[in-house]
Amino acid sequence: MEQECIFCRIVAREVASDVVYEDTECLAFRDIAPQAPIHLLIIPKSHIPSVAELTEGQQELAGHLILIAKNLAEREGLAAKGYRLVVNCGYEGGQVVPHLHIHLIGGMKLGSKLG
Ligand code: 5GP
Ligand code: ZN
Repeated sequence: MEQECIFCRIVAREVASDVVYEDTECLAFRDIAPQAPIHLLIIPKSHIPSVAELTEGQQELAGHLILIAKNLAEREGLAAKGYRLVVNCGYEGGQVVPHLHIHLIGGMKLGSKLG
């Protein structure tokens, strides 16, 4: 755990969050500033700063996070109409929190712009 990392502190329950899913490898909780009616963050419990630091050995974990996002999309009622998964990486990618996370966003028609 990185003491300075807000998401590590959420994993450790030092910072409160609205947790919607947890297993041994990952945690999912509601974004504090939702960009859509449903906005969840799916994170590994271990501190991986971003996609850029993912290693071959973490391939299964990376896939697990996406599958959990899919399952949560179904549970949140998003599967029929669709939703978006977003992973920001680094400064120009718009990443603010340096702990790997997948945004699950849905519940409305999203725009097509990425920028
Ligand atoms: P990024 O821009 O790094 O991809 O996204 C970080 C996300 O984390 C943002 O959507 C932001 O609202 C969310 N966030 C930042 N701090 C907290 C927090 O303390 N709790 C929760 N639940 N979400 C947070
Ligand atoms: Zn962390």
